[in-house]
Amino acid sequence: MSSQVPAVQTRPAGSAVRARQHLFNDRTLASYREALAAGVERVSDRIARTDRPFSGISPQQLAPEIVDIDLDRPLEDPAAALDELEGVYLRDAVYFHHPRYLAHLNCPVVIPALLGEAVLTAVNSSLDTWDQSAGGTLIERRLIDWTAGRIGFGVDADGVFTSGGSQSNFQALLLAREEALTRAASVEDRTALLPRLRVLASRAGHFSVQKSAKMLGLSPDAVISVPTGTDRRMDTAALARELDRCRAAGLPVMAVVATAGTTDFGTIDPLPVVADLCEQAGVRLHVDAAYGCGLLVSPTRRHLLDGIERADSVTVDYHKSFFQPVSSSALVVSDSAVLRHATYHADYLNPARTVEQRIPNQVDKSIQTTRRFDALKLWLTLRIMGADALGSLFDEVVDRAAAAHDLLSTDPRFEVVTRSQLSTVVFRYRPVGAPDGEQLDRANLHAREALAASGAAVVAGTKVDGRHYLKFTLLNPETTLDDIEQVLDLLAGHAAGRLAAPAAA
Ligand SMILES: *Cc1c(COP(=O)(O)O)cnc(C)c1O
Repeated sequence: MSSQVPAVQTRPAGSAVRARQHLFNDRTLASYREALAAGVERVSDRIARTDRPFSGISPQQLAPEIVDIDLDRPLEDPAAALDELEGVYLRDAVYFHHPRYLAHLNCPVVIPALLGEAVLTAVNSSLDTWDQSAGGTLIERRLIDWTAGRIGFGVDADGVFTSGGSQSNFQALLLAREEALTRAASVEDRTALLPRLRVLASRAGHFSVQKSAKMLGLSPDAVISVPTGTDRRMDTAALARELDRCRAAGLPVMAVVATAGTTDFGTIDPLPVVADLCEQAGVRLHVDAAYGCGLLVSPTRRHLLDGIERADSVTVDYHKSFFQPVSSSALVVSDSAVLRHATYHADYLNPARTVEQRIPNQVDKSIQTTRRFDALKLWLTLRIMGADALGSLFDEVVDRAAAAHDLLSTDPRFEVVTRSQLSTVVFRYRPVGAPDGEQLDRANLHAREALAASGAAVVAGTKVDGRHYLKFTLLNPETTLDDIEQVLDLLAGHAAGRLAAPAAA
């Protein structure tokens, strides 16, 4: 046999030998340790020197640095690549651990989760099948059961980790659509029913609901926006009216989506009343708790989620209020049977007999195939620091947001809207007596942009009733009220400068 194989094929060429040195295995552990330690060192060094959340660089300034790199000429040396990375990434990245990063739902991350990340990428389990993960699958299942327990679901609950809240919401609506369509007797009925399906979500709900509806082939007007009250929570009288209207019009409502923590206002829809209405109408209830899920571990505020246990499905984003690195999210359902809508059997991967053999293949529940073992980060977090510690971190930022709201409501330079139940603060620069209008809009827009360009702080913006507002999303317990006061002074300075400038400028 061997005499028929040319020697050149069994002995790798020099470049192939060198390439193999980069493979992670029992013979390359020295390089593994060295490279990772160097990476950790670089990041630590950068974090130690970071005095602002952002450098303020513009895309135009940064793009050439990246375009100029010749990807066909490798540096070979990790240290050289890390040097280069300083200039193309680390120097100008946006740092969420910084106390004056106040913009979006990005949390500072906990060290136990970073440890988990390092372990999971090296072992590289894929959580689609048992035969690619073994214990990883069981760990994920335990965490889903644990989360379901925190929600208050019963023994029939199940779920799966996902890439994020958008994917969790998408899968929830996929299951809801299939549940609605199973009532159709034939393929023709299915086709006739699909464009009639409706989803009811509050106008403060997340845009991934609309996007999901589009991907699910629903009618362009499938998502009906339910008005919110002055408290920015779903107006349940309006929900009742919409449910009646859809029934009268012969439009089956496949799901009501309630939001437990709206992205802008941090408000929680009245879950018990929404659950009552869904029960009476025989409609599925999905609760989008991508943001508010942190309350599941809050030692003092869990009651704000009362009623969530009556949902059919719940979205949780551990990468928002559980201080986990991206990605870490889950969809949890009260009745495991609905997950069959995501089940397909492939001969090569998860043949039907694996179900009879009771082999736990998570791919049967997921819309992904190859899938990261993100659950390990949460596992190590719970095993090292524990749920109460996570919950107290979240409680702290909720307290801080309340204090920031109080501060703003007595500050004559600003106007603040809607007290958040979580940790956002929506406000705008509007000194007493300043007329509302486009000038004011421009001043607020400018303040946000000028602040980001200075790098001193990063805040978000949004629109409320057609007007430009500024937004803090507090997720960092290290952010002090003093930080917030300083940022308000900076914003007021930028806005006042713009307001005083001629309109054409
Ligand atoms: C952030 C968010 C989402 C989307 O989650 P991703 O993880 O960003 O995909 C969905 N719903 C709400 C309420 C959110 O705040």
